[in-house]
Amino acid sequence: MPAPTLSLVFPIFDEQEVLPHLLTRLDTVVADLQASTGPVEAIFVNDGSRDASWQLLNELSQTRPWMRLVNLSRNFGHQIAVTAGMHYAGGDAVVIMDADLQDPPELLPEMIRLWKGGNDVVYAVRTEREGETAFKKATASAFYKLLQSLTNVPIPADTGDFRLMDRKVVAAMNAMGEHHRFLRGMAAWVGFTQIGLPYKRDARAAGETKYPLKKMVRLAVDAIASFSQAPLKLATYMGFAVTLLSLLAIVVVIILRLTPGIRALEGQATTLIAALFIGGVQLVCIGILGEYIGRIYDEVKRRPLYLVSRTHGFDDNTAVK
Ligand code: UDP
Ligand code: MG
Repeated sequence: MPAPTLSLVFPIFDEQEVLPHLLTRLDTVVADLQASTGPVEAIFVNDGSRDASWQLLNELSQTRPWMRLVNLSRNFGHQIAVTAGMHYAGGDAVVIMDADLQDPPELLPEMIRLWKGGNDVVYAVRTEREGETAFKKATASAFYKLLQSLTNVPIPADTGDFRLMDRKVVAAMNAMGEHHRFLRGMAAWVGFTQIGLPYKRDARAAGETKYPLKKMVRLAVDAIASFSQAPLKLATYMGFAVTLLSLLAIVVVIILRLTPGIRALEGQATTLIAALFIGGVQLVCIGILGEYIGRIYDEVKRRPLYLVSRTHGFDDNTAVK
């Protein structure tokens, strides 16, 4: 098998409902791409699925020599599964895609055209998002605004991980060993020539989202902590604000005390509220410190990002890990 021109990377977590649909759509697109562009490989990283995804992948790959399978030893999370796929990908260009057909494979020829036109990263921009709740859209938009205000890295809004990356971008990202990975941020951080490609994001073809609120919040915190140190400055800002406020309060209290006839600020309540307020502010600041220290701890342990239990369809040792 010649070295592939194009590698597609699919993270798979409990996607048995969607896999047959995905492969049906891919068959046509891959056949066209093999004819027009060159050899294509599709790497499916099974991220500890609890359903029959792995068995199904093995069955589906029997008639499709362009399929490559990687089985992680357990669920490591979406970003790590994609990272594993990027380590195993051998193509001159690598495309990250969701398995649920929210990222239409039919967009690939246009991505490849832009890549051949000299762009190193072609990221897909969602102009419309079908089948997503108003809550998800609103929080996503607020999150990108916050992220952009906190960091100097130009992370484009309304993008997911669906993007084509040139080999040199993939090599740069593979060399970044950080454990808490926010791939769309890392892909922006590396630089090179980047271009956005608008597309309409369909609803999930089958099955349910594997990104409940908890995982979304974790990804958002990883994004901010990996690309900004602004939260660490919050303690300083809040410290100044509280100091100023209390200075003001001292003046107000003196005036009130000196004014005859006013009996304000008597009793324990004011003291209690002041103590609770500053206690709250301090705990928030310690919590923020904790987020960063936890990340430092994760890095110094130097554990591998993931473990692989088996692979299928690679000519021995193609992984650049
Ligand atoms: N995914 C994964 N590991 C996880 C969660 C998700 O590999 O722990 C995969 C999932 O199978 C899918 C992709 O990540 O291919 C995106 O997940 P999903 O479509 O559920 O996210 P959404 O589009 O709802 O944000
Ligand atoms: Mg999805």
